[in-house]
Amino acid sequence: MPDADTAPLISMQGVSKFFDEFQALKDVSLCVKEGERVVVCGPSGSGKSTLIRCINRLEAHEAGDIVVDGVTLSDKTLDHIRGTVGMVFQQFNLFPHLTVLENLTLGPRRALGLSEEEAEARAMLYLERVRIPDQANKLPRQLSGGQQQRVAIARSLCMEPRILLFDEPTSALDPEMIAEVLDVMVELARSGMTMIVVTHEMGFARKVADTMVFMDKGEIVEIGPPEQVFKAPKSARFATFLNQIL
Ligand code: ADP
Ligand code: MG
Repeated sequence: MPDADTAPLISMQGVSKFFDEFQALKDVSLCVKEGERVVVCGPSGSGKSTLIRCINRLEAHEAGDIVVDGVTLSDKTLDHIRGTVGMVFQQFNLFPHLTVLENLTLGPRRALGLSEEEAEARAMLYLERVRIPDQANKLPRQLSGGQQQRVAIARSLCMEPRILLFDEPTSALDPEMIAEVLDVMVELARSGMTMIVVTHEMGFARKVADTMVFMDKGEIVEIGPPEQVFKAPKSARFATFLNQIL
């Protein structure tokens, strides 16, 4: 767990998000320190995706403040956010007509101004980190789901973000491919990356989470270190949820 007295890298204070009349986030406050690993769980529709989509401003919130790396999120600070926060989606979201290498070099060349050589060197570095450098010249559809998700993780890493958000990164995978993706995420966590991971993989949570968050109906209902919240959940809703998924 990172130092208690360092300033948070992400600070959400009283954040609310509406979709028309429907309130998807209700007065949510959450602080994440540099190097902290947060795992978010909760029933379908509880606001987990909305929470992390607000942190990289794929969604705009209506009330409260979100400060990322010292900058308050608004439409004027989009460039800063996109340069600071990376995201890995459930459905990989790779460009199907581009090779693995092209998927990885596109962002660094377009957004960071790297030369082709620099971008390719960086891409190969991160492909090695997710253990698939041999797949560089294939198209996404020629890869397994687990390999595609590792490419998506490498693609995020190529932008060298300070924070990585994961939205159910193993939910679309066949069971035999889940471990290879989780292993890469465990290594990333151990390397000191600041991560917020929405997942129901509680083994992963126990292994890497500094902080466990349980959401229900747009609220953070339970938050604390995993050893504490798993052993003695304070809320009946979290206890019931754990019984259902474990
Ligand atoms: P989770 O990721 O926990 O399953 P979400 O954050 O995706 O939940 O959604 C929370 C609630 O907000 C759900 O009731 C969902 O239907 C609603 N919601 C999410 N995105 C939209 C949207 N773009 N338009 C309308 N309602 C949405
Ligand atoms: Mg979701």
